[in-house]
Amino acid sequence: MPTSFYFDIQRFSTHDGEGIRTVLFLKGCPLSCIWCQNPESRSRNVDLMYEATTCINGCTLCHDHCSAITRHGSSELLIDHQQLNQFDINNLKTCCPAKALRVVGEPVDIQSVCEQLKRDKPFYTSSGGGVTFSGGEPLIHPHCVYSIAQKMQEENINVAIETTLHVSWKKIEQNIPVINQWLVDLKHMDDKKFKQWTGGTLSLVKNNLVKLADQVKDLTIRVPVIPDFNDSLEELALITDFAARLSNCKAIHFLPYHTLGIQKYKMLGLSYQGKDKSLDNPELLQKACEYAEHHPLKQLQTSVRG
Ligand code: SF4
Ligand code: SF4
Repeated sequence: MPTSFYFDIQRFSTHDGEGIRTVLFLKGCPLSCIWCQNPESRSRNVDLMYEATTCINGCTLCHDHCSAITRHGSSELLIDHQQLNQFDINNLKTCCPAKALRVVGEPVDIQSVCEQLKRDKPFYTSSGGGVTFSGGEPLIHPHCVYSIAQKMQEENINVAIETTLHVSWKKIEQNIPVINQWLVDLKHMDDKKFKQWTGGTLSLVKNNLVKLADQVKDLTIRVPVIPDFNDSLEELALITDFAARLSNCKAIHFLPYHTLGIQKYKMLGLSYQGKDKSLDNPELLQKACEYAEHHPLKQLQTSVRG
């Protein structure tokens, strides 16, 4: 079984399921959404982020440790991220005195991660919260998710998952018994557009979603609202129609596009192809909520989450 890596454990989150939650962000995603604001989540492996503004002018430590993949440009260090391997990362991870280099990705040690996730149990109990798996796509690590979720259940801790469902049904099915809340992304209803903007196959998501909705009690659809991709009432209404037909879907959340992660692309040596301006269309979001709340098939609970 390949090692699973995580890139963050975020405490006191209130946007990733009910109540106060701790979110475990696992690395790796089968999609490549143009608008992705978590580029450090995309690779299954460890990444290296470089912050030029804190790099010390004239410092040669990086180059001394790893001359093959680093060189000095006119104003900053240049790292050849494509050639970077685990050996280089190990060499570089402790060499920076200015914290300009950050290794992203820790191997998941089930025992130690569970200890961290349990720390805020009193807050989960008082707020109706718990633990949430996020990513990337957490279900590309089905065994890791299962092992941790099972231990949380033994502690009576509620478990939620944020997923694209862009994985085989087997990986989803095996986790149904240990997940309490399912927060599923549904980004578009047009196969071609979905493919163009995410690289994925929409039918895989839809088929999995229909099967999942028959088997779980707590299912919320989450829709990232992205300029030029799905920011029209017609497109959001089609997604809502699909959600309203799902057996146990009670809610739909709209997540307006933001640009908080753009800087991370540069830090990873990647280029960003998405828009550089956040979605500013409260009227559209309000109309989308009204449409869902008064849907003739099923009145869905709605929310707009930043
Ligand atoms: S599914 Fe999420 S993490 Fe994966 S590429 Fe899309 S936005 Fe990024
Ligand atoms: S060790 Fe740190 S400060 Fe020195 S060149 Fe590398 S990133 Fe910059």
